[in-house]
Amino acid sequence: MKVFVDPDICMGCGVCETIAPEIFQLGDAIHAIVIMDPVPESYRDLVQQAVDECPEEAISFED
Ligand code: SF4
Repeated sequence: MKVFVDPDICMGCGVCETIAPEIFQLGDAIHAIVIMDPVPESYRDLVQQAVDECPEEAISFED
């Protein structure tokens, strides 16, 4: 699957990086970036958790 973070919506809270640091990276940036592309199917539950817990609803994905 392909995972996206909308940089216009993300507020850089770091929740996604805490949930799945293999996929999301914040570092010193002001918004998270996706560092894995494509994301293997085995990560689906973690991606869904990140989608559900992102306070800004900035994360999306497509198969
Ligand atoms: S959880 Fe959402 S708002 Fe927070 S850093 Fe990740 S994408 Fe941005």
